[in-house]
Amino acid sequence: MLDQFALRAELADHYDLTPSPDLAAEMSGIYARMDRVVAPPDWAVFAPYVAAINKLKAERNAVILAHNYMTPEIYHGIADVVGDSLQLAIEATKVEADVIVQCGVHFMAETSKILNPSKTVLIPDMEAGCSLAESITAEGIAEMRAKYPGAPVVTYVNTTAEAKAASDICCTSSNAAQIVRAQESDTVIMTPDKYLAQNIAQQVPEKRIVWWDGSCIVHERFTAQDLRDFREWHPGTRIIAHPECPPDVVAEADFSGSTSGIIDYVTTERPEKAMLVTECSMASNISDALPDVDFVGPCNMCPYMKKITLEKVLWSLHSMQGAVEVEVAVADKARVAVQRMIDLSRKLSG
Ligand code: SF4
Repeated sequence: MLDQFALRAELADHYDLTPSPDLAAEMSGIYARMDRVVAPPDWAVFAPYVAAINKLKAERNAVILAHNYMTPEIYHGIADVVGDSLQLAIEATKVEADVIVQCGVHFMAETSKILNPSKTVLIPDMEAGCSLAESITAEGIAEMRAKYPGAPVVTYVNTTAEAKAASDICCTSSNAAQIVRAQESDTVIMTPDKYLAQNIAQQVPEKRIVWWDGSCIVHERFTAQDLRDFREWHPGTRIIAHPECPPDVVAEADFSGSTSGIIDYVTTERPEKAMLVTECSMASNISDALPDVDFVGPCNMCPYMKKITLEKVLWSLHSMQGAVEVEVAVADKARVAVQRMIDLSRKLSG
């Protein structure tokens, strides 16, 4: 990939990306979705990119799948589908367009490619990784199998295609408890997130859950004391934690759920003040739709997710570079693990 200056110069040769209050005003319908969190001068900067990306998207017959942790200008400005990992994986199976641009991290783009191998799947920055995905390999899974013979391996979708291919079934934070409960064996191996596994072990006490020692660098930063301090500082705040947080943090929270579970909870409950114990963009992305909720709390950003910018999305659609490939034999095995999760999740959700 070009460095930022070369990329900017190349884009400037093909598109007028000068900040434009007039274009920003013309696109006020899109801006209305994010005007609580994006200032007008910033929107004047973003609008030319959003206009260029949306035009190019139609020309390339592309769709943009964006994770809930994307910045508001991506989430509200250019995405066709937004959601958590499970929702994006399911949507990827339905895509009819020729090109998928994955606004998320690399393992998500791999999942889209695995589920939709005939499509071109682009990731705007190949270095958008994930501390969880980097923590586990197929060899690590083989070690766990050797240590716990016969136990099924339930692997979080936040993993590489090789790790998925070495697993029996995948899970996401929204369906992990269901998937683990549905395993016939008394012992279940969960990889790679130790905190998700420990949180699920509390919800599924009938199983002996053993785990790999991985963690998410965003969620592991929160502590139970942070949450107690926060409650004292902002009394009445409803605290909602992602299950990638350590168990004592989840225990301090009023509710725990995946990013889509968090959105459903806040949308239904409408607390006066809410602290989302997860990646910072989540609150920004839902705050315009929930004007009566005051989102408070620290801003912990995922450095991998934040590698995806409007500029890089435009570059990837312009150059068609950044195509994600997965070796066929690996993709075939990984697809089995992901598809088992999707099928079981659908069946158990009725
Ligand atoms: S928030 Fe955590 S789990 Fe999600 S991509 Fe970033 S490092 Fe990975």
